[in-house]
This record gives sequence, C-alpha cells and structure tokens, in this order.
Amino acid sequence: MLGQLNRALHAHAVLGKSDRERSLFLIKEWKKIIVRMEARAVDLGYSRACKSHIPVCRGECCRWHFPEKLYDVDFYVSISGMTARDTQNLVRLLTDAGNEAFQCPMLLEKGCFFVFENRPAMCATAYPCFAGNVYWKYMEAEKTRLDEIYKEIKDILQSVRD
Ligand code: SF4
Ligand code: SF4
Repeated sequence: MLGQLNRALHAHAVLGKSDRERSLFLIKEWKKIIVRMEARAVDLGYSRACKSHIPVCRGECCRWHFPEKLYDVDFYVSISGMTARDTQNLVRLLTDAGNEAFQCPMLLEKGCFFVFENRPAMCATAYPCFAGNVYWKYMEAEKTRLDEIYKEIKDILQSVRD
C-alpha cells in the first residue's frame, strides 16, 4: 500500500500544470458524486445501520475486502484533499504498517483515517454490504461516471509514472 501512496505522492509533485488542473477538476466532480451517494445512504438509514452493525461485523469490509483494491488513483484523490500534516501522518501510518496484508492500516480505533469525501472510491461506493436493490441500482448509475473519472485520472498519472 505504501508503494501506491508513494506513486501518488510522486505524481502530485511532478504533474504538469494542465494535467494537475484537469485532475483537480475531475476530483471535484468525483467528490460531489460520493457525497451525494452518502447523502442517499443516510436518507435510507443505511449509514446509521452500518455503524450500529460494527460491533457484530467488526468492520469486515475495511479489514478484508476494500484494502486489496486501493491503487495509486485512490491515494492521489485522497491526498489532493488533505493538508501537508495529514499527508505526513498518512505516510507514517502506512510506513509503520509495513506489509501487513489486507488489514487496512487506515482503519483506526475510531474509524477511517480519511474524512468521508477523501475516502477511496472503493470504500465510498461498495458499502453498505446490506444495501437493497433500490440503492444498488442508484449506485450503479452513479458509478458509471465515477468509473470514467477514475480512468481519466489513471491515464494522467500513468503519464508521469517512473
Ligand atoms: S481507507 Fe478507510 S474506508 Fe477504506 S478500507 Fe481503509 S479504513 Fe476502510
Ligand atoms: S458495510 Fe457491512 S461489513 Fe462494512 S461496516 Fe457496514 S455492516 Fe459492517
């Protein structure tokens, strides 16, 4: 995971002006989408239900499922919304975690290290695990645009990959 974060930090440091501006523009749209999705999950009562299930599921999604799917793009999006100090804390967290596989090092005692809109797409769009059909259909529709944005940012980062 540290490797993905480092590649995102590298891209952040070396991207040219127009690529940087384009990626920030896309990230703004991305965050609007995931905030809108969270609002829908809150309206449906899923958000509260998810939190209240944690003593039972013990955050299964964060411990075993999401961390396998966090890539450079996810970290690039996250750090673009963070202060330098939070970014340093994130680097420290992942460095300390070493190669501990699949238990997300960003899962802290009080929940995720990231504020909601800085969370990786996987974490913001694949929950809650018990969502009903109406919400899944709604999510699928929103994810179409998220996938396009993800791909475009990925292509931008690819151009500066060392
Ligand atoms: S980044 Fe946050 S939401 Fe995503 S797997 Fe880690 S702790 Fe869970
Ligand atoms: S999405 Fe499911 S596994 Fe994850 S915290 Fe909510 S109830 Fe638990």
